[in-house]
Amino acid sequence: MTQDLADFAREKGIKYFMISFTDLAGGQRAKLVPAQAIAEMQEDGAGFAGFATWLDLTPAHPDMLAVPDPAAVIQLPWKPDVAWVPADPIMEGVPVDQAPRNVLRRQVAMAAEAGLRVKTGVEAEFFLLEPDGRAISDPQDIAEKPCYDQQAVMRRYDVVAEICDYMLELGWNPYQNDHEDANGQFEMNWDFADALVTADRHSFFKFMVKSVAEKHGLRATFMPKPIEGLTGNGCHAHISVWDMDGTTNAFADPSADMGLSEQGRHFLGGIMTHATAMCAITNPTVNSYKRLNAPRTTSGATWAPNTVTWTGNNRTHMVRVPGPGRFELRLPDGAANPYLLQAAIIAAGMDGLTQKADPGPRCDLDMYAEGHLVTDAITLPLNLLDALRAFDANDGFKAAMGEEFSAAFQKIKHIEWRSYTAHFSEWERLNTLDV
Ligand code: ADP
Ligand code: MG
Ligand code: MG
Ligand code: MG
Ligand code: MG
Repeated sequence: MTQDLADFAREKGIKYFMISFTDLAGGQRAKLVPAQAIAEMQEDGAGFAGFATWLDLTPAHPDMLAVPDPAAVIQLPWKPDVAWVPADPIMEGVPVDQAPRNVLRRQVAMAAEAGLRVKTGVEAEFFLLEPDGRAISDPQDIAEKPCYDQQAVMRRYDVVAEICDYMLELGWNPYQNDHEDANGQFEMNWDFADALVTADRHSFFKFMVKSVAEKHGLRATFMPKPIEGLTGNGCHAHISVWDMDGTTNAFADPSADMGLSEQGRHFLGGIMTHATAMCAITNPTVNSYKRLNAPRTTSGATWAPNTVTWTGNNRTHMVRVPGPGRFELRLPDGAANPYLLQAAIIAAGMDGLTQKADPGPRCDLDMYAEGHLVTDAITLPLNLLDALRAFDANDGFKAAMGEEFSAAFQKIKHIEWRSYTAHFSEWERLNTLDV
């Protein structure tokens, strides 16, 4: 079913289309195209100079054309004159392999070849800050354990309810909103769906939350650890795998331990095997490693994992099996690129299915209190370079993600790491001045 975007514009009264693609750093880039020009753009794509974004392209490369996916178009609920439409970049008629939405499409197609459909839900936590991004915006939000704070969530009702109303309008089936574990932090949940649908919604959610917050004079951030000492922004992913018609959950087996089928265990085994390499994608910024392996927060727990371990309904491990037929990957943070996050999950999980990977025994300790008792667990990377090196060293995972993508991703991320290490910090002065 290919929707004609010009017809869509006429029906909905849309004046502009925002043709949007996501680069390797997770940034959303767009052109605003008047509805009268959309018919041609739907066919040919909107032109971009790829080098001007975080893609591994040079100024000498030909134009990159972002071809809108009409099946995914969304009229902006807060500005109905405009419709956002995610696009798939091509160059000289060929898909740009390194473009994140194309990377995910390949993974979805590979899973489909095996007769499987991966369905996921994400929990994209965010903070509402002052416009300069330096402090939380609600001076009364100071509780030591602010999670589910009824009074504090009501002080942000206008923002939270506006976003939730939009999700209801869009048919995403949102079902709960709360104040999260850090002062100034919120979470809004909607139903899981096919991985590509979830990635598009996740992208749009970030755009929507930032836009609505700006409208209310606030700054929303998904930064993994925006405030020192407080719980960071996770982006847990819940995962199940279904048959092609989407009716039978291949992860569900009532007779198995925790209701997780053998296929589910192998998929999980793939995630465990590739976890440290995946970190470069699920935790892709310098700041991500202030959330992982962090010291205790003021609320008492970071809610982020430190080791490659899995468990039942226990929130101190990398993977939790909260109920039958799915598991929760607690590793990703708010900086994860929505498309690469889903792609990495599918690539690692499908490899696990192929290799019949064994996730190893579950570990039921409280990792925050008793983690020192687990001496054989792999620890998660301590910084972005550690993660990039784990990614670099994992040929199987790089091949599964696509060689061209993997090379481009490493290149862009090493540029970021070098930029960071070139930055002279106050910590160095304090700790080195008197050597
Ligand atoms: P929690 O905070 O307990 O981790 P949430 O309710 O915040 O969980 O988020 C759960 C997410 O998992 C939602 O997006 C939900 O739709 C999704 N989910 C539930 N069941 C499945 C499933 N079988 N497969 C994939 N995702 C699922
Ligand atoms: Mg120009
Ligand atoms: Mg949640
Ligand atoms: Mg949460
Ligand atoms: Mg969760």
